[in-house]
Amino acid sequence: MSQTTSPTARLMDGSALARQMVEEAAERAAALAARTGRAPCLATVLVGDDPASITYVRMKRNRCAKAGVRSRHIALPADTTTAQLVDTIGELSDDSGVHGILLQHPVGPHIDERAAFEAIAPEKDVDGVTAHSFAAMSLGMDGFASCTPGGIVRLLDHYDVDLTGRHAVVVGRSAILGKPVGMLLLGRNATVTYCHSRTTDLAAHTREADVLIAAVGRPRFLHGDQLKPGAVVIDAGYNPGNVGDVDFPSAAAVASLITPVPGGVGPMTIATLLTQTVDAATRQLGAAG
Ligand code: NAP
Repeated sequence: MSQTTSPTARLMDGSALARQMVEEAAERAAALAARTGRAPCLATVLVGDDPASITYVRMKRNRCAKAGVRSRHIALPADTTTAQLVDTIGELSDDSGVHGILLQHPVGPHIDERAAFEAIAPEKDVDGVTAHSFAAMSLGMDGFASCTPGGIVRLLDHYDVDLTGRHAVVVGRSAILGKPVGMLLLGRNATVTYCHSRTTDLAAHTREADVLIAAVGRPRFLHGDQLKPGAVVIDAGYNPGNVGDVDFPSAAAVASLITPVPGGVGPMTIATLLTQTVDAATRQLGAAG
């Protein structure tokens, strides 16, 4: 279903910006292949047969193919152990034919996901999930951004949202989304508040937000009456039925800028993954080229 905005809110078109980023990544991948004789390669690792995860990985691999980035897919059974997964990722980390590694989140509850993420070599962590990458994001050092947070900041930049001195409220504190996006916003001189399931009087916080990041995983959880008039609203949520974490009609009536779902943050995540895969390959093949 297409979404319309109120006269006040402008739509942040993640699809259009992501297309541009994928085109740029494709040009760089082609130039790298011409120079070194090797195309960038992303390894995707999927554990189990969760339909949503299968779809996400397929989308990422399709986008790779469009950009001239090779992908190597490793599908592991649902009963894979932590040790087996760590071994598989360790082998990919040591494989010079692989430049980036993506472990699709979430893995089964019996697996120590953090241990599996940490088996990714930092220079191949194009999804930005390791502690090394989180530290780099937090300290403003060179490194890979967590893809959804990196895509969000890129989108804010594209729409000239000045973050300096503005109050950003992040609802959600997951390792792959809430925490790193707050760190990136802090690095851009926003004043950052994190909210989560134990936050009392959530609306009192969200109503203070100049920039609101919804990263909750609950359909249409945040409504217009919980927002500050004129706020910039980024809906990172993606729930069954293509529904975000923000109630779009009521939020669009008070926001100044807002992302749609779909077509906002989602495409930016994949575009950031591709861009970072080409970055990784460029660094790794640089010496050979
Ligand atoms: P997650 O790991 O489940 O984390 C959800 C966060 O929301 C947690 O920090 C949780 O707090 C908080 N929360 C839950 N209920 C709350 C409540 N009633 N009030 C305030 N906070 C509450 O989810 P995630 O992986 O970060 O994903 C969040 C959403 O983003 C999902 O819809 C997911 O599909 C989407 N997503 C989209 C992309 C994309 O590319 N578009 C990528 C990743 C994720 P506690 O920490 O206290 O439990």
